[in-house]
Amino acid sequence: MKDLNCIRSKKAFIIDMDGVIYHGNKLLSGSLELVGWLEKNEKSYLFLTNSAERSPLELSQKLERLGITVTADHFYTSALATAAFLSTQRPDGSVYVIGEPGLIQALYDAGFTMNNVKPDYVVVGEGRGYNLEALERAVKLVLGGARLIGTNPDLSGPVEDGIVPACGSLVMPIEAATGRKAYFVGKPNPLMMRHGLRRLGASREDTVIIGDRMDTDIVAGVESEIETVLVLSGVTTLQDIPLFPYCPKHVLEGVFEIPA
Ligand SMILES: [Mg+2]
Repeated sequence: MKDLNCIRSKKAFIIDMDGVIYHGNKLLSGSLELVGWLEKNEKSYLFLTNSAERSPLELSQKLERLGITVTADHFYTSALATAAFLSTQRPDGSVYVIGEPGLIQALYDAGFTMNNVKPDYVVVGEGRGYNLEALERAVKLVLGGARLIGTNPDLSGPVEDGIVPACGSLVMPIEAATGRKAYFVGKPNPLMMRHGLRRLGASREDTVIIGDRMDTDIVAGVESEIETVLVLSGVTTLQDIPLFPYCPKHVLEGVFEIPA
């Protein structure tokens, strides 16, 4: 279930981060070599993450602390995708945000203003700004006509000492109280893949997506017709693969297999 030469021959690489490059603050085997190989072979590459907390510059600095130099233009987050999507829907609109600075900055950069009285959108990411007061306000604003947006549908996310609720879980109380359903922009929404391809300036035939989750990375690749590489260094085991109705094109132990 793998053809390394086929993977290596691709011109563009879309790479998930958690479970692929690092786990929390621990670098995974082969990450440094992978980036070196991508640079040396003049591949286009983009790190694509559903996390909306950090800006591309902060992600670049995080990798730098772990020992890998990658400039900020090689990162694309669900916060950027959400801001790009909303700016096509309602240019210069207003938002009420439950989330971290990475999300707020992306929305400001896309021309949005913050509004906690009558916003066009309530946008939920993950982060420490989540509390009962913010929930109550979000419910009131959605019932008052604001559209409900989640940056990504992930129900939980890995941290060093276990699992924490992520955006998909944090949106649920607002959906339950208002009877409205959120629209999620991050993976597996193919919108995020299209944005990624546009950033790379690559066609889908020339591109692979490398990820550790079947229900986000792999299904996103399948639905966007981009060749998929599942790595077993994250949340998915070999035994999990048959439980899904779709399968990855390639299965690797980790990204360390890719550099020749
Ligand atoms: Mg991952």
